[in-house]
Amino acid sequence: MSYGGSILIRGGTLVLSKGLVKADVLIEDGVVSAIGKGLSAQGVDEIIDASGKLVFPGVVDEHVHMREPGLTHKDNFTNGTKAAAAGGVTTVLEMPNTLPPVDSRSVFEEKKRLLEPKAYVDFGLYGVIHDSNADKFEELVDAGAVGFKIFMGPTTGNIPSPNDGTLYEILLKSAKYGITLAFHAENWDLVKYFTSKVKASGRSDPSAHLEARPPICEEDAIRKLMLFSKKTGGRVHVVHMSAAEGIELLKYARYEGLNVTGETCPHYLILSADDYSKYGCLMKVNPPIRERHHQEALWRAVREGIIYALGSDHAPHTREEKSKDVWEAAAGFTSVQTFLPLMLDQALRGKMPLTKISELMSENPARLFGIYPRKGTIAVGSDGDLVIVNPNAETVIRAEDLYAKHPVTPFIGWRLKGKIEYTILRGVIIAANGKVVGGPKGRWISRLQAG
Ligand SMILES: [Zn+2]
Repeated sequence: MSYGGSILIRGGTLVLSKGLVKADVLIEDGVVSAIGKGLSAQGVDEIIDASGKLVFPGVVDEHVHMREPGLTHKDNFTNGTKAAAAGGVTTVLEMPNTLPPVDSRSVFEEKKRLLEPKAYVDFGLYGVIHDSNADKFEELVDAGAVGFKIFMGPTTGNIPSPNDGTLYEILLKSAKYGITLAFHAENWDLVKYFTSKVKASGRSDPSAHLEARPPICEEDAIRKLMLFSKKTGGRVHVVHMSAAEGIELLKYARYEGLNVTGETCPHYLILSADDYSKYGCLMKVNPPIRERHHQEALWRAVREGIIYALGSDHAPHTREEKSKDVWEAAAGFTSVQTFLPLMLDQALRGKMPLTKISELMSENPARLFGIYPRKGTIAVGSDGDLVIVNPNAETVIRAEDLYAKHPVTPFIGWRLKGKIEYTILRGVIIAANGKVVGGPKGRWISRLQAG
């Protein structure tokens, strides 16, 4: 199936992972058909003048929780993928901790059928492996899962974590199929221990959360995953890394040549423990946003290529769920729509090169989850997924502009450098100036699906 038609993006500066290049891009039948200077506009249906603008590959957000099915009081796939489109994200990889959890082929197929007609952007689906479904690994690979999420502790949806034997077994399978396992890496026994200790001390201020989950919880879990990966060759991706200690381990993993990579999220780079007094539990996430020196270590890791990918960890909750005390408040917030705007602002302020956006937010996630080069780059033969940005304009994050059911995020009111003008999905404009255009045009994509 194709939309037909053609669109020429003229005079812009393409931001690729390897550098910036001034070139036109022609998209025909949804696929990039030519890149070059002075491409002919003859017979082209639509032309966008991108002079003075930056043209990025569509963002691949490897880490979203859209909450459908089963948790739609928090949000749903329609709102979530509209938010993605408005925010320059053209592919989302949806986490499996919806209800029921995506732990078998039949649940996977059911979720795919339910979501596809509602998708405003393309999407891939994760499967989950917990303590009793390791035998479903193959059927989920076969169904087209982009990867697996493994929760080493309880999470939204209360999925029981695998024991060490199961963990070892699924790492063996990961190596066999070359499929990525995304880990929530925190040692749950330690989280429980520290949490009860801090609770017993009577603390209830928002930063108590920070002390209830100190870096050792992450460090221990990552160390174990590195060992298991070393013995099995399994492909480990540690998501939402928050601590300097974890970064040190990632450096060591690279030195050892292990199949271990890491993700961090904008909130760990942009907020720090200093902000709890201002935002309270609005910025409660797991693992927690930590002190300044952790933030600085994460930035260095982004710039030096130690962090392999960024994800939004889009995790919407209701205002009420976010308004409880530090021990009861839900962890996470809506973030897919602010993902690119926040990182664009950081790059335009000089915190990292613009090329890091294309590398960490498009190309590397697409590679890791088996959808590259169809997704994640601007190249002849790739899907025509682009984001056109005016680097000289500004964006103000306003609740009324967010497509979230509950627009609750610490970033409301933030004034950012850069403005997303167009989001283009397979050659079709799906959002212009922050507003979604037209109906749902997204499709489900499987790992290694031929373009
Ligand atoms: Zn998550």
